[in-house]
Amino acid sequence: MYLVLLGPPGGGKGTQAKRLQETHGLVQLSTGDMLRAAVASGSDVGRRAKAVMDAGQLVSDEIVIAIIDERLDQPDVAKGAIFDGFPRTVAQAEALDAMLARKGKKLDLAIEVRVPDEFIVERITGRYTCAKCGAGYHDTFQKPKVDGICDSCGGTEFVRRPDDRVETVTKRLETYHAQTAPLLPYYEGKGTLKVVDGTREIVEVTRALEDILGGIG
Ligand code: ADP
Ligand code: ADP
Ligand code: ZN
Repeated sequence: MYLVLLGPPGGGKGTQAKRLQETHGLVQLSTGDMLRAAVASGSDVGRRAKAVMDAGQLVSDEIVIAIIDERLDQPDVAKGAIFDGFPRTVAQAEALDAMLARKGKKLDLAIEVRVPDEFIVERITGRYTCAKCGAGYHDTFQKPKVDGICDSCGGTEFVRRPDDRVETVTKRLETYHAQTAPLLPYYEGKGTLKVVDGTREIVEVTRALEDILGGIG
């Protein structure tokens, strides 16, 4: 099954994708994570992407489509994947449909994790991850069971993203509404769009997603 999670930055896409990855054996494909890896590696793509990401704008369609195209050739995603943070423009959505079609596959579902803008500053400025294993946390909404120790790996070092600052959030939300929100009518028109209420607690959002996926298998 191929599934797209849509929604604003900080809306909970990555959190939910990780949870579904564990329960459904679907691989999470996050273009944000892939681009951050490219930045960390100092590659050409990474150098080009860094300034754009720090400014809260979108990396070019050409770059992210090439990254996903290459990733989809790997055997671990032959049976399915959850796209998290991709597509982010209609051009990317069209490219994804074409890439899957070339491989004799199709996108089964696009699910919007709907979260109004007024929730987003708190979600994003409180976000941090385990430096060792990448598990996601939040200062208020998702604390580790033992303060300062990662639940998943026992790590004690945590990191915050350079773009998760209050000044960048407004720009990222603008970018979302202008360039990514048009994907909602795009998928609605194809009959593949579902919506879940992303303002509820993490476990409740997962339950709503499970309900939708249960009907698909
Ligand atoms: P996205 O991948 O959409 O950018 P994340 O999954 O990283 O968003 O979530 C952003 C922050 O909000 C994280 O710190 C996460 O722990 C927290 N979070 C995610 N879902 C919820 C929720 N339903 N309620 C409260 N906080 C949440
Ligand atoms: P969030 O869900 O919090 O917005 P992501 O990790 O998905 O964060 O993305 C971080 C940044 O990486 C984005 O602000 C953008 O600059 C870039 N990016 C990620 N995915 C894409 C994409 N599909 N197209 C263009 N830029 C992207
Ligand atoms: Zn960890």
